[in-house]
Amino acid sequence: MARKTLLIAAFLLGTTPLADAFAADVVKLRLLGTSDLHVAALPYNYYADREDITLGLSRTATLIEAARTEAANSMLFDAGDTIQGNPLGDLMARERGLKPGEVHPIYRQMNLLGYDATTTGNHEFNYGLDYLAAAHAGLKAPVVTANVVKEGTGTPYFEPYRILEKTVRDEAGKEHVLKVGVIGFVPPQITTWDMSNLKGKVRALDIIETASRYVPEMRSKGADLVVVVAHSGLDGAPRKGGDENAAAYLAELPGVDAILAGHQHKVFPGKDFEGLPKADMAKGTVNGIPVVMPGFWGSHLGVIDLTLSGENGRWTVAEGRSAARPIYELRDRQRVALVGDAPQVAAAVQPEHEATLDYVRRPIGETTAPINSYFALVQDDPSIQIVTNAQSWYVAAMLKGGPHEGLPILSAGAPFKAGGRGGAEYYTDIPAGRIAIKNAADLYLYPNTLRAVLMTGAGVREWLEMSAGAFNRIDPAKTGEQPLLNPAFPSYNFDVIDGVTYRIDVTQPARYDTDGKLVNPDARRILDLSFQGRPIDPAQNFVVVTNNYRAGGGGKFPGLDGTNIILEAPDENRTVLMNYIYEEKTINPSSDGNWSLARTAGDAVVTFESAPKAATALPADGRIVPAGEAANGFAKYRIDLKG
Ligand code: MN
Ligand code: MG
Repeated sequence: MARKTLLIAAFLLGTTPLADAFAADVVKLRLLGTSDLHVAALPYNYYADREDITLGLSRTATLIEAARTEAANSMLFDAGDTIQGNPLGDLMARERGLKPGEVHPIYRQMNLLGYDATTTGNHEFNYGLDYLAAAHAGLKAPVVTANVVKEGTGTPYFEPYRILEKTVRDEAGKEHVLKVGVIGFVPPQITTWDMSNLKGKVRALDIIETASRYVPEMRSKGADLVVVVAHSGLDGAPRKGGDENAAAYLAELPGVDAILAGHQHKVFPGKDFEGLPKADMAKGTVNGIPVVMPGFWGSHLGVIDLTLSGENGRWTVAEGRSAARPIYELRDRQRVALVGDAPQVAAAVQPEHEATLDYVRRPIGETTAPINSYFALVQDDPSIQIVTNAQSWYVAAMLKGGPHEGLPILSAGAPFKAGGRGGAEYYTDIPAGRIAIKNAADLYLYPNTLRAVLMTGAGVREWLEMSAGAFNRIDPAKTGEQPLLNPAFPSYNFDVIDGVTYRIDVTQPARYDTDGKLVNPDARRILDLSFQGRPIDPAQNFVVVTNNYRAGGGGKFPGLDGTNIILEAPDENRTVLMNYIYEEKTINPSSDGNWSLARTAGDAVVTFESAPKAATALPADGRIVPAGEAANGFAKYRIDLKG
């Protein structure tokens, strides 16, 4: 104010050129952002129990330090999903708890890094509101989340927004105090996903409706600019209301200047979002507003660069662009680290890291039978059974009280580690007895998230016909050896569906090719498909549990293209499996024998390959016998398919 008066006075006295007196102040402000850290404090994969350079806030911290040095002014934000998502998070929440005054290890790192504000992700609610409050108590940065309100009163559960006073230096070296409004959002689906923790306590509101109310309020309270930290992704489809991924719609709201997005575990700007309407990938904007989504587990740092122009105390964004900086890159299909750890940030969590190593190696439950995948492609198998059991258990609880409650639940699983291109050692092999958390990764290799689809009995049959393409056609009349497994068919596409019973007749031609094309419309390999002991009703509706890959069209299965998804669960199938073991304590993974190869091959000599070690785990019925060596370290087995 004083300077303005002085300048105007100088102008009136004719001592300052006109242009100079009215020249705007230019401030460059850099907004840095992380999201979906999921307790990835260090570059360590606790499921695999080894270092992993694709993750870790201790790595992202090095990018944060570099990005700060390059900029005159910067602020740091996080868009949530911070305290849940790996065994370190589980250890803290389930085993240790947070004593009064104790700071959660990931928040300890964030305190060191000096975050300016954060929000809550959907996973922040997984351990209940009391634990969340205890965790938040140790976080120095304010937590803003506008669209969660108390049940009954409807008053905000969290601080909806905060207007931060940020001292900045303009391009001429002069200081200003900017009022930076920060508002946060979480997908309103939390009340379904975490019903047991939230019911009767909080409600979640539509993101855009809530933003439309608060952004003008922030402006009227003096915010010079509004930054949205949204635990919400970018959707190219028009807004429906109650949207999970609303960040692109936020970019349409007047008064919003920059958006840190998240939740989808993707990178914006980048090829993840090619074709997104109104997106400018070179500038990193949506509808002209800078947006950044920084991957997940600390894989990227989001960088938004704003150029602000100030005149008469009014600030406007003259220019805004964004980029996502990775902590690693792929070179010749190899992952190469681009940064090392920030030593202080890494050191801050060492005690809990050590404790987590003990935790993942320590038994959490017991299996009454060995779990191996040696014969997963030729007979019903415990390594799939335990996964399908866990999935059904989870979805039964999720559907309670919803429109699909009461529909029969089927559960699909495939052997992920079953030799093939992975080699002769590439099998799951867990002995009977105690089972540790790290074994869960062995049973569910991929970080898929759980999905449920709505399918008719007829659709279930086609799904299984596609799976049955895993086998070569066997000619019962032919002499000589006939290999059973089609090498072009990846084992992860051999979906077994539990909840129905069926046999697979490999003497028939495959109905579908490996590309999902109907090649033999008259052929049927699936025999006796039954539900509750009776032939399946082709018109009956079923809920089938699977993963995001399959439900979204992965493997090109008939009837699966993403349009019949009724549950997009926020949890990984692997987490569901781990929670199932944790809850049940003792699991009996014995397969229920719900499917088998039909004994229609007569005297044909049918063989398949598995690990040499499979000879120590031959099924008791004597139908599978060793048949010598095979190439690449595999062993050959013969299976008797005589009626
Ligand atoms: Mn997440
Ligand atoms: Mg089964």
